[in-house]
Amino acid sequence: MHELSIAYEINGIVDQYVKAEQKKFIKSVRVRIGKLQNILPDSLSFCFEAINSSGNSIGPKLEIEPVPITVECNKCGSVNEIEGLAFSCIDCGSTDIQVITGNELSVIEIELFEEENKEV
Ligand SMILES: [Zn+2]
Repeated sequence: MHELSIAYEINGIVDQYVKAEQKKFIKSVRVRIGKLQNILPDSLSFCFEAINSSGNSIGPKLEIEPVPITVECNKCGSVNEIEGLAFSCIDCGSTDIQVITGNELSVIEIELFEEENKEV
């Protein structure tokens, strides 16, 4: 399942930011995901929460910010948002285009519980 491997990838990024012992204090993780990643947001959230849940404790929520696919034409210079995989310029039809956004897969925010909730 594609979403599951992406969920593990996000989990790996979170690990780089947050020490292992702090992981249980994560409230939510916000990610930016380009449409070219071709993922189902609901399915990804489910996978992420599942791999971070253990026993009765519920893992952090995954909040997904989708990024549209935009391309820039190298011939006429126009920038357009496209749906699906029609990889040619809308204005001039050239296939000499480059993807500007849509490949994103990044963690943009990790929200932790307040310190006072932590048992020392
Ligand atoms: Zn063009």
